Amino acid sequence: MINSDIAQQIKIVLVDTSHPGNIGAAARALKTMGLARLALVTPQVYPSAEATARASGADDVLAQAEVFETLEEAIADCRLVLGTSARLRSLKWPQLNPRESADRVLAEVGQGRIAIVFGRERVGLTNEELALCHYLVNIPSNPDYSSLNLAAAVQILCYELSMQSGGAEPSHSEELGALPVDQDEMERLYGHFESALIELDFLDPDNPKHLMRRLRRLFNRVRPTQNEVNILRGILTAAQRCCRVAGK
Ligand code: SAH
Repeated sequence: MINSDIAQQIKIVLVDTSHPGNIGAAARALKTMGLARLALVTPQVYPSAEATARASGADDVLAQAEVFETLEEAIADCRLVLGTSARLRSLKWPQLNPRESADRVLAEVGQGRIAIVFGRERVGLTNEELALCHYLVNIPSNPDYSSLNLAAAVQILCYELSMQSGGAEPSHSEELGALPVDQDEMERLYGHFESALIELDFLDPDNPKHLMRRLRRLFNRVRPTQNEVNILRGILTAAQRCCRVAGK
């Protein structure tokens, strides 16, 4: 089972869940594998007696679940974010299977918080939500019937984590400055990019195409450190200053 220090660093995030029973069943899935942190983004019916009933003894996990208004807020403190999807999207994004995702999570768990995000029962996660994730995780399944029940998908990801963890302890070897920044810092960087690129006439707000999503994909690959983010923001500020001096 997963060591409780590691478990504290891993958040399972359910986005916009419609059926409270699935929230309860997901809480149960977490607890059976030694995980404890459940985050709910705009659950449609919650709290709910049905969720508690389906949690069946994992109601402590349910009671401690944090509720958020947006996915951005739920993952703001995370340095690594994995998004699960039943379908492989047209937008190319780095992909992992559940076993590879467990390896990645356990390799990085000593460096800060990690989120694994699950989508809506009917339509999964939107492309915008997936763009907030570093990796897309797909559970290999029947190509003609690939969509698992939400709590079943949660169970598989948690099971792989538990199997791969083998009593691992989190290691805190790296210096903070050498770590990728958290998502809150990244959102500030994207906000700065967007306003600076509009000011520099590089981004047309009326016809943005996919520029911001492509930049997200680029930075999701790079996963910059605080120093690197500071350099980029310094460059943007200098460019904005130049543009203002030139009277644009
Ligand atoms: N039609 C939806 C399916 C949603 S199933 C879609 O295309 O994504 C509800 C959630 O369960 C998904 O958002 C995902 O988080 C998880 N899930 C279900 N099947 C999965 C699979 N094969 N691989 C990864 N995640 C899966």
